[in-house]
Amino acid sequence: MKVHEYQAKQILAEFGVPVPNGRVARTPGEARAIAEELGGKVVVKAQIHAGGRGKGGGVKLANSVDEAERVASQIIGMQLVTHQTGPQGQRVKAVLVEEQMQVERELYLAVLIDGAAGRPIMMASAAGGMEIEEVASRTPEAIHRVTIDPVSGFMPHLARELCFALDLTGDHMKQATKLMTALYDAFIAKDASLAEINPLVVTADGRVLALDAKMNFDDNALFRHPEIEALRDKDEEDPTEVEAAEKGISNFIKLDGDIGCLVNGAGLAMATMDSIKLAGGEPANFLDIATANDVQRVVDALMIIAADPNVKAILVNIFGGMARVDVIAEGIIRAQQQMQKTIPVVARLAGTNVEEGERLIRESGLPVIRAEELGDAAKKAVEAARAA
Ligand code: GDP
Ligand code: MN
Repeated sequence: MKVHEYQAKQILAEFGVPVPNGRVARTPGEARAIAEELGGKVVVKAQIHAGGRGKGGGVKLANSVDEAERVASQIIGMQLVTHQTGPQGQRVKAVLVEEQMQVERELYLAVLIDGAAGRPIMMASAAGGMEIEEVASRTPEAIHRVTIDPVSGFMPHLARELCFALDLTGDHMKQATKLMTALYDAFIAKDASLAEINPLVVTADGRVLALDAKMNFDDNALFRHPEIEALRDKDEEDPTEVEAAEKGISNFIKLDGDIGCLVNGAGLAMATMDSIKLAGGEPANFLDIATANDVQRVVDALMIIAADPNVKAILVNIFGGMARVDVIAEGIIRAQQQMQKTIPVVARLAGTNVEEGERLIRESGLPVIRAEELGDAAKKAVEAARAA
């Protein structure tokens, strides 16, 4: 789950990460009032979940209360396009109004999970303020990483190592060490999957603080963080993913291709997407229906897939262990009867109650394309999508 910058900053500040003074505003009038409190010289920042707001025109400096109000009125309501929003952009509902900082250096700092090491890592770079993906691909040596042992936690020697890499000495090093420790504490305590500060700045008056903040949270740990769940902004999420989650289908991710996938098991879902790609196609989604021996759940999943206007064919790939193939078959039949338009369905069914499932499909008289194994199923789905 993602949150807005102002929410991430509130969380980080609770743990002791220094951030500029500021508050969120939903109207230009509110932005004006906050600018007044802060003494007039402020920065007005669009609050959307995507990054790259600065380049897209969503971060503006204002040098007076009047200017703050005017800039806020331009940003609130705008359709902000960044490299992370897609061409349609994202509607801005609120702005963060913060005191302006005299920035001397822009650095990068983040904590995330390194899947390969199976541990958290802290990443730092002196090349802050730019897209880190670009830094990583052009000058990977400019990114410094330390692996953190979760038992001992973030040790002072790791902070020193990163400070040397960032060329932070003396009092700056002291402040940065405290900040890094606080960032790690917040990351662990809130079950975050990412806590990123870009840029981390050194100001002209010698302070080290988080000018921007981004936090992502592990969805599987949200049950123990109702305070994080409460920060959810559904307007920023993909509407079909929101609908899927509301219907109890938690493993749904929308993608850009034209072949919808209904699969049980995350591993099989990954293999199915690989097979589609290998056959020259593009998956329209990732969907792991898990062991849902519930016809309505199958119908809901297929209807969500079919609602995507890009979907030209659906590939159902089920290996029934605990899951029952007859239940899936019943779901396929009912969903096809409910669909507005006919979308060809390719089914590769195996495992528990497969004979019963195949009998149901045969007797329904619905045009379900049968496939024997995964490669065959992917090929048929790609052909069906091309023909459609
Ligand atoms: P992003 O583009 O979505 O990552 O938004 P950021 O919060 O990182 O802001 C983009 C850029 O605006 C930063 O890298 C800074 O260069 C600049 N910026 C933001 N706040 C201030 C500020 O208070 N003073 C100055 N001088 N620059 C700022
Ligand atoms: Mn940033």
